[in-house]
Amino acid sequence: MGSNEQTSGFSQIQSPAQTRFTEYLIRENDRIQDGFDSWLFHPGMLFHSPNKWWGDRGKRNTPHEGLDLCLYRDQDGRIHCLDDNTRIPVLYDGVIVAIVNDFLGKSVIVEHQYDDSDSLGFCSIYGHINPPDNLQLGKSVKKGGILATIADSSRSKSGIQPHLHISLGVTGKFISYERFDWKTIGSWDLLTLLDPLLVLDRPYQVLEDFPAPLRQG
Ligand SMILES: [Zn+2]
Repeated sequence: MGSNEQTSGFSQIQSPAQTRFTEYLIRENDRIQDGFDSWLFHPGMLFHSPNKWWGDRGKRNTPHEGLDLCLYRDQDGRIHCLDDNTRIPVLYDGVIVAIVNDFLGKSVIVEHQYDDSDSLGFCSIYGHINPPDNLQLGKSVKKGGILATIADSSRSKSGIQPHLHISLGVTGKFISYERFDWKTIGSWDLLTLLDPLLVLDRPYQVLEDFPAPLRQG
């Protein structure tokens, strides 16, 4: 593989560095400080899942482009949900390169340095959030800094709970995000999606069945 020039830098993609995302999230949200133990996922929340985890739990239109963060377990075994007050920290130092609408709120794309590569860039995308009005394109952000809160989903007909969607993508350098569209992100040839679980800093568990009710304090 390595000798094939045709495959370009994308054949050599390595996982981005581990983040301290959960640590920042706990630090910035008093409500979560109460003994966070592990993330919980329905299979439909995982990267590349073909299934929905809400509503009729049928098929997604396209495989999941990232990871949905919504549920966690505390050290006493109780299950909690993130809510629309949850403050969302940035994974890595970077620059805001796009702010677009999505079906629950807004999505913000932050571009980061990808190792020392001259030909590759790297971005994280935060979906279903509610950024402040003063969040502008071109603004620099620091890892652990607060980007937004999770968007309120109560008016959505989907019945979906408030949650954070995270996508990670390796890109060519200097790509323009004007063409960014959630409908086509999975087939966008300028961007290769990675599994955000690779960089998450806490254990996780996948549960086939959620304990009911989902909405807990
Ligand atoms: Zn998602």
